Amino acid sequence: MARLAIIAALLAVIVLLFRSFLRSDPYAAPSTEMVQDPNCGTFVPKPEAVFRKVGDRDCYFCSQKCADEYQSRNAHNSAS
Ligand SMILES: [Zn+2]
Repeated sequence: MARLAIIAALLAVIVLLFRSFLRSDPYAAPSTEMVQDPNCGTFVPKPEAVFRKVGDRDCYFCSQKCADEYQSRNAHNSAS
């Protein structure tokens, strides 16, 4: 009877360990690609990034503000 309780406890520990391992697995979300904001250098998850085409380059920004800043600076540089 005591042996059964030990086995049950061990199973519970194994399940808990397995769950926490799955949660902290760094390979659990390989689809979240990180992109770097060329304006401030921040890394942003691609689905959350602000996409803007600057010249003939595809750029991803952390915010609308960064996109505007980078685009206006880039346009100014290429114009002059
Ligand atoms: Zn930024």
